[in-house]
Amino acid sequence: MNLRIILMEAGATDAHVEEVLARVHKLGCTGQRVTGAQRLAVSVTGNLAGIDPAHLARWPGVADVVPMSRSFKLVSRVVKVDDTVVRLEGPGRVGHFGGGKFGVVAGPCAVESREQVLAAAQAVKEAGACALRGGAYKPRTSPYSFQGLKEEGLALLAEAREKTGLPVVTEVVDTATLEVVARHADMLQIGARNMQNFALLEAVGSTRKPVMLKRGQSATIQEFLMAAEYIIKNGNQQVVLVERGIRTFETMTRNTLDLASIPLIKRLTHLPIIADPSHGTGDWRLILPLARAALAVGADGMIVEVHPDPEKALSDGPQSLTPDRFAETMQSLRQIGSAIGVEIS
Ligand code: PEP
Ligand code: MN
Repeated sequence: MNLRIILMEAGATDAHVEEVLARVHKLGCTGQRVTGAQRLAVSVTGNLAGIDPAHLARWPGVADVVPMSRSFKLVSRVVKVDDTVVRLEGPGRVGHFGGGKFGVVAGPCAVESREQVLAAAQAVKEAGACALRGGAYKPRTSPYSFQGLKEEGLALLAEAREKTGLPVVTEVVDTATLEVVARHADMLQIGARNMQNFALLEAVGSTRKPVMLKRGQSATIQEFLMAAEYIIKNGNQQVVLVERGIRTFETMTRNTLDLASIPLIKRLTHLPIIADPSHGTGDWRLILPLARAALAVGADGMIVEVHPDPEKALSDGPQSLTPDRFAETMQSLRQIGSAIGVEIS
């Protein structure tokens, strides 16, 4: 027994659906009409082993055939056709992800000191970013690496938020610290290493804070979207997905930024997806070309690391832009944005 969803084209009529139901019946399967808010579909159960989905996809009025194993429900375009727009609001600036805008979140990998985070915040604000990023709790591969300033880091982020008006995005690494992080953050980041920490996903799903969910280093798109499903299932629809690169056989880049996932995920889900060209490459020299590429393939924004002095950074310096290079990147994105009708902010 398996299950497929036949998605009808936008202009499909009742007669098309009746025809699909009759054909499904003829194949010895059971069809059921699904009436979505803006689109019709037919769910099919039965023994589909010998039936080629491409054959069903050619029936009149049919747009696509989706196996149910791929059918995340609440994150799916089947359930919600229009783009979800996630708002990220600070005291002096509001970011938007989805709905044709390109939101840029920028700042250091980790909060290191008051001077560092305030300088980064001021610089990214002036260059036009919509939000400040900065990790206070850092999940590091080595236990001997800098682990973040923790609560002190959160307080410094709060100060940068007050001084610049920018909303703050910061990572929450476990359920034990969720309460304190949520008190200071405008958006909760779930890092790649925690993408399948289901207890944490459920916990952020129970808050009313927007969530930035990063793709796991070895996660398939299916697993990535199922992780988002955990958050939404608990009532929090404000989820921004982040393509931050996956581990492949390639070693010359830190990760392989999977740009194809962006338009594919936009087809599969109504949630916004942004790119992370810092972690996606590990090399500041590759950020500008990949930021341009992300905009061109339809990303809803990007998150990028910016440090006042990358050579002295306590984490991820090689993939951090200087303030000047970040301003240059924003300028280049605005040129492309104006040509394709996308607002960069
Ligand atoms: C980060 O954003 O600094 C980070 C740790 O990213 P990721 O979880 O994608 O590795
Ligand atoms: Mn980092």
